[in-house]
Order: sequence, then structure tokens, then C-alpha cells
Amino acid sequence: MELEGAIVDRDYLIDTIAEVREERPYEKVKRAEIISNGDTHVNCEICLRVLTEIPGLDVAFYSFGIWLCSSCHERFIEKEDFLKSVSELPAIEDEG
Ligand SMILES: [Zn+2]
Repeated sequence: MELEGAIVDRDYLIDTIAEVREERPYEKVKRAEIISNGDTHVNCEICLRVLTEIPGLDVAFYSFGIWLCSSCHERFIEKEDFLKSVSELPAIEDEG
């Protein structure tokens, strides 16, 4: 599957999301706050992108040491049926 430009294994993705969902609820943190806290190296636990390097990201989400970008939070945390969100990701053709 493809997530935010990276190729990810479906089972790995589902396991990660299931673990991340256990830490709900997540607290909204503004981009400016992330920068002023010096957390410019932190990445989204699901798509692994560095939060402050994501174009147009205004808020991120935080809980118990886990950071999420707004896109992953919306797709995989807010939506109860996260398996559906996973199944909607573009599939990568098997090159084997
Ligand atoms: Zn993400």
C-alpha cells in the first residue's frame, strides 16, 4: 500500500494503527507550539513523516509520547472503521 508517498506493508500498518488507537484521546498541538517546544525532529507514528516538514500542517496530535499528523489522525483515529481507511489507500503492484 502507499501512504503519503511511502510504501508500507498492510499488516504492519494495521498493527501500528491498532496500537496507536489505544492511546486515545490525542491532544491537539499547534505547529507553532511544536516548533517553540523544540520538537522539530518528531515524526508521525503512522506515516513516519517529520511533522514540521509536512507542507500545510497546522496541527498535530499527541498522546503518551506518540505523535500523529492531522491526516493520519483523521483517517485512522477519528474514523472508527480504520480498516476501511486502510483499504482505501492505493495498492502497490506486486513486483514479484
Ligand atoms: Zn501521518
